[in-house]
Amino acid sequence: VKGEKAKIKIVKVNKNFAFGKLLKVIEKSDKRCEPICSIYKSCGGCQLQHISYSEQLEFKKHKVIDCLERIGKIDTSSIIVHDTIGMENPYYYRNKVQLPVGEVNGKVKIGFYRERSHEIIEVDKCFIQDKAANEIMLIIKKWIEEFNITGYNEALGKGTLRHIMIRKAFKTGDIMLALVTNDKNLPHKEELIHSITTEIKGVKGIIQNINDKKTNVVLGKKEIILWGKGTIQDYIGGFKFNISPKSFFQVNPVQTEKLYGTALKYAGLTGKEVVFDAYCGTGTISLFLSQNAKKVYGVEIIPEAIENAKINAEQNGVENAEFIVGKAEEEIPKLIEKGVKPEVVVVDPPRKGCEKSLLYSIAKASPRTIVYVSCDPATLARDLSVLQGEGYKVLEVQPVDMFPETHHVETVVLMSKAAGSAAIFNR
Ligand code: SAH
Repeated sequence: VKGEKAKIKIVKVNKNFAFGKLLKVIEKSDKRCEPICSIYKSCGGCQLQHISYSEQLEFKKHKVIDCLERIGKIDTSSIIVHDTIGMENPYYYRNKVQLPVGEVNGKVKIGFYRERSHEIIEVDKCFIQDKAANEIMLIIKKWIEEFNITGYNEALGKGTLRHIMIRKAFKTGDIMLALVTNDKNLPHKEELIHSITTEIKGVKGIIQNINDKKTNVVLGKKEIILWGKGTIQDYIGGFKFNISPKSFFQVNPVQTEKLYGTALKYAGLTGKEVVFDAYCGTGTISLFLSQNAKKVYGVEIIPEAIENAKINAEQNGVENAEFIVGKAEEEIPKLIEKGVKPEVVVVDPPRKGCEKSLLYSIAKASPRTIVYVSCDPATLARDLSVLQGEGYKVLEVQPVDMFPETHHVETVVLMSKAAGSAAIFNR
């Protein structure tokens, strides 16, 4: 924890930095606290539980500043870096839980994988997943014991239950449970359905997903609805989304609204603009932007996500969004070549950031504003520095805490065409 003095064993030395293992804290920070979870050290899902929440938010802000300075060579004293937007209650925020079920020495275990391994750490309660998910997990454990249900053995490819997945729609309270099994056979399912539906409020669907492949992919192709419906519905902002076991949906919807709200604010739309949403996924940001834009083009590499994006737009009566399947670095230049001229470009790439060629073509199209939404401050800083070289200036940076207790940080950056550059004169 920042400010502490500690005894550390250096375990690996690189050119400019080293890795250490904490042996003993000599002078303790008052920001250090007792982790709430008993398996914090073995689980690996959370990394910052030993730091008070307000300090976690500081830590994330400084992680962003550090990357911008060190990797992006951006002087952060001349721009606005806001405090991290945190949660009022930084626990029980995940709406989706995926738990592996396995068997070790004849005993069935449900929990999480130990970091970088497939060893299952038994979990009875997780403090960052929804409370109903914790209750469902206990009911399933009881059922497994009572009826001798077998857990999946990865090495042998045998055993009934492979994974359980629980999804909850926070705005509607609807819950879905998916049981991933190794084959069609699911003994004593009636008893489980009875317990879940009588003991848990809000359950709208129980689904069996069959995955008979030896693979790390959780869900298989075949699905059987055992009880109720195959989809539930949730809202982000005013928009409605259908969620099935396979569909992508942000796992922290409360913070997602704040993230997208910031992106929309930074876009500064008046209703007249053409906007690009690169890496649009299922089109959630595109829908947010469409409220105040003339036209939004969403580009995404996964065809199923684009199918979902189109359905989401239609279901919400959005008619000014167009979705294109393909690589952003190929499809965006094609749009520009066709003569489509964006006033605003939003990018929300995966951890590895944007292709350099995409950044060059965006800069060449000369939008007045670029909004960069990032889940990795290091690649963000690298890409911002490329855009700065192309005549854009960073104005504001807003870190958002989408995953409290973990080291992850999401960032929204507002960039504007630097004053005096050719593009502004052309306008
Ligand atoms: N903006 C979306 C999703 C962002 S995640 C949301 O807020 O929900 C990043 C997305 O980029 C993923 O959906 C991933 O499939 C997609 N992607 C990865 N590489 C891509 C590429 N080269 N071109 C376009 N999309 C890509």
